[in-house]
Amino acid sequence: MKGKQIFYWLSVFFFLFAVGCNSGGEDEVIPDEGTGDDEEEVVGDRDVWSFDIKVMLDRKTFMAYLSSEKAVNDRLQQRFEEVRELYHGKAGITYFDADIEFVPFFDETCVYDCSSEEVFRNALSYRGDYPYLVIFDGCIGDFPDERVHSDWTGWGTEVVCVFDNNKGGADGGTSVYEILSYYKTAECLAHELGHARGVPDIYAMEVKANPINGEMFSPVTCIMNNCWGGTSWSEYAQLLINRNKDLVRGEEGFVPLEQPQYPEEVVLKVTRDGEPVKYAAVNIYREVMYECNIESTPAMQRTLGADGSVSLNPTTLFNASYGGIGYGVLLIEVVDGTEKAYRFVPVYEVQIAYLKGETNEYTIEIEFE
Ligand SMILES: [Zn+2]
Repeated sequence: MKGKQIFYWLSVFFFLFAVGCNSGGEDEVIPDEGTGDDEEEVVGDRDVWSFDIKVMLDRKTFMAYLSSEKAVNDRLQQRFEEVRELYHGKAGITYFDADIEFVPFFDETCVYDCSSEEVFRNALSYRGDYPYLVIFDGCIGDFPDERVHSDWTGWGTEVVCVFDNNKGGADGGTSVYEILSYYKTAECLAHELGHARGVPDIYAMEVKANPINGEMFSPVTCIMNNCWGGTSWSEYAQLLINRNKDLVRGEEGFVPLEQPQYPEEVVLKVTRDGEPVKYAAVNIYREVMYECNIESTPAMQRTLGADGSVSLNPTTLFNASYGGIGYGVLLIEVVDGTEKAYRFVPVYEVQIAYLKGETNEYTIEIEFE
């Protein structure tokens, strides 16, 4: 977007804002340039959902950029422009109902002289009024309690940590990695901020070991199925991110990833040659998120009714005891005499049904060959 256009749209925005305030007979309010995250810009015919981010950077990396606020901001602008492109899509594909941008704020007061773990522990005060905080650490291990993993922490903390960049490891702080350089930093940010917008780790919903029937399960392609280097978004991520629009935590209608929603019930319907399979045993095995193997004992055992179906509670099956998604994939085993039929059910299949409007009931059909 060109400067003139920005000026034009900002003028329109402020004009409408002032009119709105005055017509209400209230004191005139001058919009500040602070951390507002709910201003909806319009560019061409696409809206922009814009989110402000406070950026913290470790002292040694800042020094590697010659302690120049401008040098850091230039790189942040480039990386976050790449993030914006990743959210927008390529070759005519637009993934979301609006363009999505994250706007970094950094100045010299955002440089920290302690361990990244300490910044993380005090994330709420560093974040302040910003909806999100990103902590960069290009020099890992220079403090004994250093945090070394790039990740996202929700639950009201709302922090993205970008540390080893999958390249360096904790080496006692001997090397300073140029963490704001091109190498996959934008992909990493796009992924971690995807969590911020409500999407869980899809790579955690994989089955690489299965003692029950030996079959593997690979989840859908998505930036959320890849921490470093994904370039496209799955339907699941699209539905979740579109649902949250330009809202952030605390605003009505925002659903964080740790509050997954499912249809009230999942109905399992089993047939053979079009006829219901009556009274067969159903064993449900699960994959614990991130562990990527099917557990050897069933989490639940049920029996089909005379209509060949049984109703299941998705919250019980997928959620961890602490809330949030605890199990990524179900392996459903139906035992009818000496015959067995199987079906994998990834948690996103059930959530997609919910997001598309099947909020009461979602039916999973299994056929005996
Ligand atoms: Zn992740």
